[in-house]
Amino acid sequence: MPEGHSIHRLARQISDVFGGQRVSVSSPQGRFADGAALLDGREVIGASAHGKQLFVHFGPDGTHHLRVHLGLYGAFSFGGDESFAGASSIGAPRRIGEREVSAGPRDDGGAPAYAGPPPPVGAVRLRMVSEHGWADLRGASACEVLSTLEMAGVRSRLGPDPLADDALGDRAAPGAVPPSGPGAEFARRLGATRTMIGTALMDQARVAGVGNIYRAEALFRGRLDPWQSANRLRPEQVDGLWRDLVSLMRDGVRDGRIITTAAADRPEPGADVWPEQAYYVYQRAGQGCRRCPADIAVTEVAGRKLYWCPGCQG
Ligand SMILES: [Zn+2]
Repeated sequence: MPEGHSIHRLARQISDVFGGQRVSVSSPQGRFADGAALLDGREVIGASAHGKQLFVHFGPDGTHHLRVHLGLYGAFSFGGDESFAGASSIGAPRRIGEREVSAGPRDDGGAPAYAGPPPPVGAVRLRMVSEHGWADLRGASACEVLSTLEMAGVRSRLGPDPLADDALGDRAAPGAVPPSGPGAEFARRLGATRTMIGTALMDQARVAGVGNIYRAEALFRGRLDPWQSANRLRPEQVDGLWRDLVSLMRDGVRDGRIITTAAADRPEPGADVWPEQAYYVYQRAGQGCRRCPADIAVTEVAGRKLYWCPGCQG
């Protein structure tokens, strides 16, 4: 499942290529026909993300919001003319889902002039078309139109997002005013549960956007025992965990992939970092820890594989 950084990249992409444009919206597959009719012909004001939830805001008054959750199988595909590709700050990936596929360099033969979107292939739930390009959504677990009030309701049930703009805003002046903001909210929500920290981090109502990779890697980097109760963590451990999530996930938004290893912990300096040297523990069960003599372990917790190092996190 894509983690929060992918959804924030998606929001940026949609804002860049559709923002300020009037779009036609349809549901070639038919399952989103009623929702598409509500949005068809409106202007896209922009898009935003909260954890793994994507919102696309439509004009003229910003009263209609498309909510998409990609779930396990969802992905957007994009295509369009030169101005559409050039408008994107993230290189116009052709597909954003679990794995991004880069549009790559164009060959010099010159692509044929853009003549509108291709015929829909497969079960396209949502198609959005502007003068310059198109986006297709397939396989999402949620795709619906919400009012502003309904969107606020969805957001109120989510925990703080490490990718919020003000994620570190409350830590600028240590010892000053009582802490508030997303980091303080993270501490409050972890402090309210005896659930093991390894499970609490995956609970979108406690922290939004963290998935299996960031969960495992941040716990390793913090040398935190995944089985420790969330409310037993020391304040400096919670603070460090939040700061590390913010840092790792901001890198993920920039890079389009998750890399958590420090250069000093990569055995092959010249080789590609991703994917073989990108992680400390994720999908490395049975391999040697990068920092101690132990082998990485894996345990199934709440239906998901939890990777950890018994040496570093015991
Ligand atoms: Zn270790």
